[in-house]
Amino acid sequence: MPMLGLGTWQNDDLAQCAESVRTALEAGYRHVDTAQAYDNEAAVGDGIAAADVSREEVFLATKVWADNLSYRDVIETTEQSLEKLGVDAVDLLYIHWPSRAYDPEETLGAFDELHDRGLIEHVGVSNFTPEHVDRAREILDAPIFANQVEMHPQLPQEELLAHATETGYNLVAYSPLARGAVMDDPTVLEIAEKHDVSPAAVSLAWLRERDVTAIPKATSEAHIRDNLESVRVELPAEDLAAIDAIERTDRRVDPDFSPDW
Ligand code: NAP
Repeated sequence: MPMLGLGTWQNDDLAQCAESVRTALEAGYRHVDTAQAYDNEAAVGDGIAAADVSREEVFLATKVWADNLSYRDVIETTEQSLEKLGVDAVDLLYIHWPSRAYDPEETLGAFDELHDRGLIEHVGVSNFTPEHVDRAREILDAPIFANQVEMHPQLPQEELLAHATETGYNLVAYSPLARGAVMDDPTVLEIAEKHDVSPAAVSLAWLRERDVTAIPKATSEAHIRDNLESVRVELPAEDLAAIDAIERTDRRVDPDFSPDW
């Protein structure tokens, strides 16, 4: 899984969404993140088809919405997602939230079926606590490949990171720029000035140094290219330590967050 991907939540101007996916792929991104709930899978598919990059080179992830997690709905809505995306299979399919229609036996049984049928390369989960992951691993035949959670310098998710390392799955950081709040963080700003790069690039490089994949959402070409620059940013140990030492507010971008939402 490429460690930098393009997020697409709220990229719901569909022409612009397709254009940002095409721009990102042609600039060098090889990972795109969407979801049934974003209502833009067809536009994401259009962007992939329009790019001068072959489908095989693109790591494509989508998510089954929390209302669609009965056995039958997982299968049927995933088939619809593939049709909208215009692909035979996705590289990663996530359970978006362990809530609403989520029933571990039923939902995960359907994910195993999709995996066996070759419609999904990898099984992912999102907004799962370590306890949710452990329970899912007892049921699933396929391995859990990734857990997608909110993560950025102001929410380092240390417990989940330790669990992911011990258990052997990938962490994918959503809202890796804290929806813009990292741009105002004094520590991130100081490091960015020192290296003459943007605060966004510093935040993404810090995540990569922790072995965490990041999927910043960017609409404009300037933001898409700025975030890609992060792959060239190498932060010395003292800068990583300074970010690790930021006084944590553990402030989530969504203050009403609950895994049972
Ligand atoms: P984010 O990526 O932290 O922040 C996106 C915001 O930052 C947008 O307003 C974007 O503006 C701006 N931005 C992007 N690059 C920038 C740069 N280089 N300089 C300045 N501003 C920049 O927040 P997010 O959209 O919440 O999270 C990213 C992705 O994670 C989502 O798109 C979605 O794919 C995924 N996600 C998943 C879940 C889940 O439950 N699994 C929840 C939330 C998000 P422009 O759009 O104008 O470029």
